[in-house]
Amino acid sequence: MNPLAAAYRAGGEISTWAKAGFPLAQAEGRLSICRECASYHAGVCSECGCYMPLKARLATAQCPLGRWVDAQGE
Ligand code: SF4
Repeated sequence: MNPLAAAYRAGGEISTWAKAGFPLAQAEGRLSICRECASYHAGVCSECGCYMPLKARLATAQCPLGRWVDAQGE
């Protein structure tokens, strides 16, 4: 894939991700689960290495251990 096509594709992915939103209520529910998790250390998940106060706000993000199921209403 040429660089221009790759950049265009990346833009589409970012757009799809952004349209999924940043639901704050969902994020707080997710973070409350993280704070009780043994893999949560000073805001960072040792399973995925992500900074959870930011990752929890991404609608398309998922807990690597599947523990956000209740917070996502699934
Ligand atoms: S994302 Fe999942 S595994 Fe990571 S700290 Fe939160 S609940 Fe624990």
